[in-house]
Amino acid sequence: NYKMRDWVYSRQRYWGEPIPIVHCEKCGAVGVPEDQLPVMLPEVENYEPTGTGESPLANISEWVNTTCPKCGGPGKRETNTMPQWGGSSWYYLRYIDPKNNESLVGKELEKKWMPVDLYVGGAEHATRHLLYARFWHKFLYDIGVVSTIEPFKKLVHVGLIMAEDGRKMSKRWNNVINPDDVIAEFGADAMRLYEMFMGPFTQSVAWSTSGVSGVRRFLEKVWKIQERIMNYESGITNKKIDSLIHKTIKKVTSDIENFRFNTAISQMMICLNALEKEENISMIHYSYFLILLSPFAPHIAEELWEKLGYKDSIFLQSWPVANEKYLQDDEIEMVVQVNGKVRDRLMVAADVNEDGIKEAALKSEKVKLFTSGKEIKKIIFVPGKLINIVVGE
Ligand SMILES: [Zn+2]
Repeated sequence: NYKMRDWVYSRQRYWGEPIPIVHCEKCGAVGVPEDQLPVMLPEVENYEPTGTGESPLANISEWVNTTCPKCGGPGKRETNTMPQWGGSSWYYLRYIDPKNNESLVGKELEKKWMPVDLYVGGAEHATRHLLYARFWHKFLYDIGVVSTIEPFKKLVHVGLIMAEDGRKMSKRWNNVINPDDVIAEFGADAMRLYEMFMGPFTQSVAWSTSGVSGVRRFLEKVWKIQERIMNYESGITNKKIDSLIHKTIKKVTSDIENFRFNTAISQMMICLNALEKEENISMIHYSYFLILLSPFAPHIAEELWEKLGYKDSIFLQSWPVANEKYLQDDEIEMVVQVNGKVRDRLMVAADVNEDGIKEAALKSEKVKLFTSGKEIKKIIFVPGKLINIVVGE
């Protein structure tokens, strides 16, 4: 039960789809036949409201006066137009096949593209636009125009950006952030990156101008470290950075898939901080970094990409794939227990064998407190996780 009710569908304004009805004195309201559709808006100089409550179209007599499709006598076009959801409820179908003049959408293309894989909108859409869109779609399904019963596979609601004072942005409270001002001061990339970084995508977050400055500084650092780029051929090998870059590729990739843009950017910041500490940065590492950054800060990424000497746009590059070889940690943490109680944690080389770990565990001062003078009955070893020394009382 969606609690849907009948609602007035006509609007008294110019911008809207004309309602295809002709009023005839003899026949009454007559639907415009399908071969005469769509009824187009007339091109006019003036489309302001009339001031009389009538639609602006009512003043355009050469458009209003027509012939009745039924009896051929004089008729007048309906001058009210459809509300905005007259079009917004099914526009995604026209995106698939925008130049089709024969039907709403071609059958082949509709089958290929529908349903929409991912639909992103504001939470306020849940009670209106989404209901209408589903309602229309189900109607179109019933009459055989579309092949799927639902229009959207997955839905993500973007959180509302609140004002700096935590309230809704409103002229009344004079707390509206104007994107044009932010772009003029910090740049479009900083604005875009900040919006992705400011919080979880689906949650409401308050705007913070100092947050934008922070993101802007991050981009400045990205720009600055290009001075330290060396070609890979020059013999830089850096296991630590290799590992970090590939971990960053992995995290940014999966975070984008899951709409966790804020944590993707955090990871890029961690990566950049490490790169900054290096005397030389390899061309390949920096190139990967720029590709990861490019969806978030497209202008600076493309500019730096060109400065590196690449001829094709960064947006034509393949997305990097994390190499598992670099994702393995060199060291792992082993928990050391004595009689099942955690007594120490040791960092050991990932490839060290059981004997090596036993030896290290027995040497630990913290462990010795609980084992000295006691008989070691057995040692249980769980590879990669823990070692448990069982001693007698
Ligand atoms: Zn008629």
